[in-house]
Amino acid sequence: MAEYAIIGFGCAGYYGAKTIRENDPDGKITVFSEHEYSPYNPMLTTYYVANKIPFEGMFPFGDMYKIKEELGLNVISGKKVARVDADSKTVVTENGEEFVFDKILISTGASAFAPAFEGLAPEKAFYMRTIGDAIKLKEALESHSYKSALVVGASMVGIKVVELLNARGIKTTFADMANRIFPLAAYESVSREIERRISEKGVKLALGSALSSVEETADGFKCNMSDGSIVEADLIVLCIGTRTNVSIVDADKVKINKGILVDENMATSADGIYAAGDVSEGAELQSKDSMIIGLWANAAHQGITAGANMAGGTASFDGNFMHNITHFMDMDFIGFGDNKLPGTVYTSGDITKGLYVEAVIGEEGLVGVNILDNYRISGTVKNYLYRIMETKDTTLSPIQKGILIKEGLKPSFIEKMEGKFNGK
Ligand SMILES: Cc1cc2nc3c(=O)[nH]c(=O)nc-3n(C[C@H](O)[C@H](O)[C@H](O)COP(=O)(O)OP(=O)(O)OC[C@H]3O[C@@H](n4cnc5c(N)ncnc54)[C@H](O)[C@@H]3O)c2cc1C
Repeated sequence: MAEYAIIGFGCAGYYGAKTIRENDPDGKITVFSEHEYSPYNPMLTTYYVANKIPFEGMFPFGDMYKIKEELGLNVISGKKVARVDADSKTVVTENGEEFVFDKILISTGASAFAPAFEGLAPEKAFYMRTIGDAIKLKEALESHSYKSALVVGASMVGIKVVELLNARGIKTTFADMANRIFPLAAYESVSREIERRISEKGVKLALGSALSSVEETADGFKCNMSDGSIVEADLIVLCIGTRTNVSIVDADKVKINKGILVDENMATSADGIYAAGDVSEGAELQSKDSMIIGLWANAAHQGITAGANMAGGTASFDGNFMHNITHFMDMDFIGFGDNKLPGTVYTSGDITKGLYVEAVIGEEGLVGVNILDNYRISGTVKNYLYRIMETKDTTLSPIQKGILIKEGLKPSFIEKMEGKFNGK
């Protein structure tokens, strides 16, 4: 009987375990989780803090008892794995217990990362990555009447935190070193429009301005910004970045860049050791580079692929490309593709209201798209871009065209998206 270990039981770990069980009904699957919760969806944590969903709403696969029964798992929870020895395939927990396996999946995800700021003890700031971060922020909001907040990091996570603080009437400043919002996903015109809309809703923007140091005052914090300005806040939330949880493996045995390097089977450089989800770095289809793609669906596909291969099957995942689909403050922002790639820019609609699309057409067709205020066309555009990357075919199918036209895009703009006026 084969023995499998899953280290970290989030999205990738859950799908890994489920797929192993589907392919090997008799194997022994041991799951190691540093906490006692069942797998949760980190993207729902801000909805919980905002009181939009109940606590149970964060667990898409149900409670741990149900999962354990359904998948026949041996669960070791509430203990962090300290080390994985790739040669002997031994898992060592933080309290020194050792377990040996045939195959191991590392699905430990990533943690919030923030540099040290002079004057700010790390525990005095809030973060938004784990369920623990969400519980801490919610409890603080419910037990204090904060009047002002500084959110650092104009990312998709930062904006969700800004949204929930703003909705509670907390005067919120949103800061980033970059000089515009969503610098990695939005085109400049779209960034500026989103900035205009959130400013109108009362959020103060401090862009092009990094947090330098903090002084504690009787009422909260005096935050010194790199441009010389001062932000007074009694709550600081740092949404600056993440670091992969790779420290449990030995980099001499398992190749690591920013994440654990995996091939299309989710195999690492060490025999019998697999990795999936935010901890891993796999193929990015547009750049053809290896990259961490921190998205829920990506973690699910990678977990399924790893699980199938661990259980003796053959599965492969060619990779994904950068994309964001986010709803906040009564608007939808969708960004597909690398927003730094050059090309001819075509736009459709009025950026200030209704459906607005900005498309960049490179030599081989569409390379990037921003969509404001219509999530319904996102699936069609994503599939289209995916197909261009896979096959170089830039023609939209009649069904895809029909969906885009129904949602308000003109046939002439659709032809431009297909690159018909771009030398094709
Ligand atoms: C606020 C927020 C909003 C997001 N919004 C979106 C979105 O809109 N769309 C989207 O696609 N994605 C979104 N994401 C990203 C998405 O949630 C992740 O890509 C996905 O959850 C990754 O799954 P994972 O299984 O790789 O990692 P995780 O879900 O992080 O799971 C890893 C698990 O491993 C455990 N672990 C770590 N180290 C150890 C150890 N040493 N021992 C034992 N256990 C360990 C952790 O506790 C955790 O439970 C968001 C993320 C956040 C934080």
